[in-house]
Amino acid sequence: AKEQGKNRYKVFHTGMNLSSYRNFMLQNELRKAIEREELRLVYQPRIDVKTGAVTSAEALLRWKHPNWGTVLPSEFIPLAEESGQMAELGEWVLRTASKQSVDWQRAGIAPIRVAVNFSAHQFLHRDAGERIRRILEQNELRPELLEIEITETALMGNEESVTRTLRQLKSAGIAVSIDDFGTGYSSLNYLRRFPVDSIKIDKSFVQDLCKSASDSTPFVQAIVSLAQSLRMTVVAEGVETEGQLSKLRALHCDEFQGYLFCPPVEAADFEAFLVRSQAP
Ligand code: C2E
Ligand code: CA
Ligand code: CA
Ligand code: CA
Repeated sequence: AKEQGKNRYKVFHTGMNLSSYRNFMLQNELRKAIEREELRLVYQPRIDVKTGAVTSAEALLRWKHPNWGTVLPSEFIPLAEESGQMAELGEWVLRTASKQSVDWQRAGIAPIRVAVNFSAHQFLHRDAGERIRRILEQNELRPELLEIEITETALMGNEESVTRTLRQLKSAGIAVSIDDFGTGYSSLNYLRRFPVDSIKIDKSFVQDLCKSASDSTPFVQAIVSLAQSLRMTVVAEGVETEGQLSKLRALHCDEFQGYLFCPPVEAADFEAFLVRSQAP
């Protein structure tokens, strides 16, 4: 896919509108982003609801273009997938996150898991498990310290490949979580067929926890009890208020992530944060 991507330059033509012009420019610039070192990862802590301890760090990709400033992943990741560049980007992310995790350990920080987002293509690749294992090995990260996040929608309609990759990851000792849980069409079916380690309740549910008009409480409650009976960890994402957190606590959600506790931050700031949170 890497070789393919390189030869698939699109040609600009005058009939393009402004947004397809921007996409065209972004796709071409993205090809140079890795070597120009315009990419970096930021990290957001996942917190144990009961103890307040940091359980893991989610790595989130950032691209800062010299002329256009920060481009958000929601804009450039779909473009990278479309142009076949996601495999290369994804490997860069996994390598960088692995190195970072090892660096933190070498700095004397108690090991925590690092969670890396995977696109559908990456996850469904025939040798996904083998590729991941190789990167971990090269960077000396123990597989138990990696978690792969994959969205529910990315898993849809690819039963065979999903099962294959899940098996590969499981036998390698790598954890998997389903991201944006509840936004797809067959959430329950997934849990039945594909055993994963944790599910992340989509932030739209968290945001509606305290709303009288469209209160999501019964849904969150159902997700939590189902996941826990399957021995999966339940994580709530996008937690912004104390009200939401206390609701989640009452609903026995295991872990949470969100601006309330900490937004995604630079690696150095995350390290400082870990040092403080692990101090006796
Ligand atoms: P996601 O995996 O669901 O990540 C959570 C998003 O919510 C992140 O947006 C994060 O910055 C944001 N967030 C965290 N706490 C809060 C909160 O309290 N409130 C609100 N409103 N938002 C919060 P971000 O970093 O812009 O990433 C957007 C999406 O891009 C991610 O959604 C993920 O699907 C994708 N993405 C990011 N990095 C990567 C990557 O390395 N690889 C792949 N394949 N996808 C990535
Ligand atoms: Ca995620
Ligand atoms: Ca999510
Ligand atoms: Ca999302």
